[in-house]
Amino acid sequence: MSPQIIDGKAFAATVREQVKDYTHGLKQQHGITPGLAVVLVGDDPASQVYVRSKGKHTVEAGMNSYEHLLSADTSEAELLALIHQLNADPAVHGILVQLPLPPHLNEALVINAIDPSKDVDGFHISNVGLLATGQKAMVPCTPLGCLMMIREYCGILTGLNAVVAGRSHIVGKPMAQLLLAENCTVTVVHSQTRNLPDILRSADIVVAAVGKPLFVQADWIKPGATVIDVGINRVEQEDGTTRLVGDVDFESVKEVAGAITPVPGGVGPMTIACLLANTVTACCRLNALPEPGFLNPIT
Ligand code: NDP
Repeated sequence: MSPQIIDGKAFAATVREQVKDYTHGLKQQHGITPGLAVVLVGDDPASQVYVRSKGKHTVEAGMNSYEHLLSADTSEAELLALIHQLNADPAVHGILVQLPLPPHLNEALVINAIDPSKDVDGFHISNVGLLATGQKAMVPCTPLGCLMMIREYCGILTGLNAVVAGRSHIVGKPMAQLLLAENCTVTVVHSQTRNLPDILRSADIVVAAVGKPLFVQADWIKPGATVIDVGINRVEQEDGTTRLVGDVDFESVKEVAGAITPVPGGVGPMTIACLLANTVTACCRLNALPEPGFLNPIT
């Protein structure tokens, strides 16, 4: 049986199109244009690429994009002052502070200074708590994108065994919360887990977010399972060039899985699409307008 290769690029394009349509409707019917502010501190090249890409997609979706590029020596007080200004700005519906921050800045303090209703990354402690208690939250973009793809390929998830590899605040833990909310039986494995391959073999759904190139092996996967690869790892090849690989050994696992995301072209594009979706959701909530329900699994 050949596996379904989950085309995250095409899926993300569909979500972005839905966001664009909804944005158009908000402008036409209510005269409101959703606005996303992205704050970058420092000149990390990878972060600069992400921020540029976010800005481009925001504009393409018909929204306003506000970029705040701050020098690496920006003080905590200056950064907090900017966040307070964005919190108070009615044209800004979503605020994203690009991580990681330079070491002299307290990440938790900065993230928790964002108005939770504008926290489109879903990292504010209020949103973490709301998600954990099954209430209406801003949901972190990467797990949200994963869930959309899992739903598309598995249908109703009730009763399925899901294993999430990785327990970070930004991917593993919120992913586990979302799958629990879908009535999956969820196991989270991490670096201290014993018999990890045996646990993975019981999974109907595997989400790999460990940051280890080609970590998940074919003989750890139950035949027909859905495998979502969050990992982004740059590995050096014999000829000295580098290539991107995931946390899953795609070539061998695809022979066993029922459906699998590639890297690149799987989860990555969905993360930005979900950021745009969260911005529209935030805009609707802030203006007490109906939300685009198809975008958010927690209602
Ligand atoms: P973190 O480094 O924060 O977390 C990694 C997790 O993997 C930890 O919980 C760690 O366990 C666990 N882990 C590490 N080694 C092992 C092991 N040998 N066996 C089992 N578990 C292990 O990473 P992130 O969650 O931030 O990111 C994970 C990957 O996803 C990275 O490759 C990152 O680049 C990618 N990513 C991709 C995104 C996208 O848009 N596609 C977005 C965000 C991340 P422990 O807690 O015990 O240390």
